[in-house]
Amino acid sequence: MGMARPRLPPKSLDSYTVKSINKTITVGDCVLMRPAENSKLPYVAKIEKIETDTRNQVKVHVRWYYRPEESIGGRRPFHGSKELFLSDHLDIQSADTIEGICVVHSFKSYIKLDAIGTEDYFSRFEYNSITGAFNPDRVAVFCKCEMPYNPDDLMVQCEDCEDWFHPDCIQMKVEELKMLDRFICHVCSDEKKVNHATSTDADTKVHPFLCSDEKKINHAASTSPDTKVHPFICSDEKKPIRAAPRKADTKVDTKRRRR
Ligand SMILES: [Zn+2]
Ligand SMILES: [Zn+2]
Repeated sequence: MGMARPRLPPKSLDSYTVKSINKTITVGDCVLMRPAENSKLPYVAKIEKIETDTRNQVKVHVRWYYRPEESIGGRRPFHGSKELFLSDHLDIQSADTIEGICVVHSFKSYIKLDAIGTEDYFSRFEYNSITGAFNPDRVAVFCKCEMPYNPDDLMVQCEDCEDWFHPDCIQMKVEELKMLDRFICHVCSDEKKVNHATSTDADTKVHPFLCSDEKKINHAASTSPDTKVHPFICSDEKKPIRAAPRKADTKVDTKRRRR
């Protein structure tokens, strides 16, 4: 017969050192947590509180980040490989399931990173894990394909209309674009009969969407009627290009709570 361990009152901690990784976590940190199945990618969470429980075990109160494939709408072409959604899904986990610390950047700072490390992620949407709704529910779109910006994709900017284009969508190769002094999209060159002989020595902007044009990003949150924005919520059946494959078997809640 073992002796009953005394029940202790919960105690709040400012930080805790996870022995297995020898890293100290503090409230507000974003962390990687060991998935139930080894083959899966680690879960990402934001630590909202650290405390000892009644048995003096250290627990972290977390808010889960969802990967696009874990959301009701699933992964879509504009989702970046390092994209996460800040969810409303709260949980309490043992601090010892933490296997690393990561950084979840805002979209704006993520696209300005010179190099993206394995620990770098970004989040531009809040996600309701019950309804599958996103906040904001509208986002700026670019190119002929009218897709939100995927920071993994290379785009070229038209110097006239300042819209950005995927090389594939304008039937051009990246190498061809790099040889141009300047890029003018088909719409602009048809409309204005641009004289290509007057090209300057300015380099054609072929690079991952580095935002000197922050006004476009800001459009995502604007309600201005001329802003080119589209709803991308998955209930939007009228736009098949944005209809996401529905995964009936996505059961993140139970999967996570079971651990
Ligand atoms: Zn495109
Ligand atoms: Zn143009």
